[in-house]
Amino acid sequence: MNDSNSIPPVANPITFAGSPFDRVSALRKDTDWLDTRLHDSKTRFLPLHDLKVPVELGRDARLNWRPRGELSMLLRAGAPCILLGMEDGIAHFAVDVTAAPAPRHEGGKWLDVRSAAMTLPAADAAITAQARSMLDWHNRHGFCAVCGQPTRMEDAGYSRRCTADGCKAQHFPRTDPVAIMLTVWDGKVLLGRQPRFVPGVFSALAGFLEPGESIEEAVRREIFEEAGIKVGAVRYIASQPWPFPSSLMIGCIGEALTSEITVDQDELEDARWFTRDEIASMVRLSTTQETPRMPPPLSLAHQLARAWLHGA
Ligand SMILES: [Zn+2]
Repeated sequence: MNDSNSIPPVANPITFAGSPFDRVSALRKDTDWLDTRLHDSKTRFLPLHDLKVPVELGRDARLNWRPRGELSMLLRAGAPCILLGMEDGIAHFAVDVTAAPAPRHEGGKWLDVRSAAMTLPAADAAITAQARSMLDWHNRHGFCAVCGQPTRMEDAGYSRRCTADGCKAQHFPRTDPVAIMLTVWDGKVLLGRQPRFVPGVFSALAGFLEPGESIEEAVRREIFEEAGIKVGAVRYIASQPWPFPSSLMIGCIGEALTSEITVDQDELEDARWFTRDEIASMVRLSTTQETPRMPPPLSLAHQLARAWLHGA
């Protein structure tokens, strides 16, 4: 018989949260301070190649930080370099080394951030999320959205400014909020399948917030659009940085007011109510190939189900 006794509580931290770094947002505007940190022999650099990170594999998998010496040529050539933060008085930067061939990596591997997160300790996964989102934003924001002229990096990577004299518009890294929700009714949970999901997986419904919309309104709109269910009360459970490329997943539970499902075939191929026992089983099977199952613990949908099974 399924029950929630053997289901772990919500992960703490949620994957991609829990960075150990102090982001020193006041200090990083000080160009003298920044220059000193960039040339300090203790400073550590995380190269990203094509948004992949170097991971030392083995029992104690960890990020492969490099000293400045190994990257100084690329840094002098203007490789994008952003401050991740300070830990124990040591500055940590991420450097985009995509312009050069990927450096050889003895005893390790270049991993995409999702694979890295499944391999690395939570703190390192959080660092990769910050580095990936930031460098990806710089890659795609070389030109001003106001006047079309080139922009340049400022504030150790936390803004870009237009270089055109008449414009000088400042641009900030994006974080795009996404509501992701379990909808509950009479002890059951609504989950759906998008056609792109791997076979067997059912997940929480989700959608981007729109301008002028509260989180609660976005939850109600998405559930009604995708499954035809009206939702009343909405409660916040947990959030997750999702660096593909720069979302913030906002996890909620919504109380359904109606139960008849009308699937929006453009968004979902299936949506169903699952009982408590079924949800417990799907959480347990999340790292197998069984059907049906929930996404793995890396996902906020999985963590929301754990929260609900534990009484949230
Ligand atoms: Zn401009």
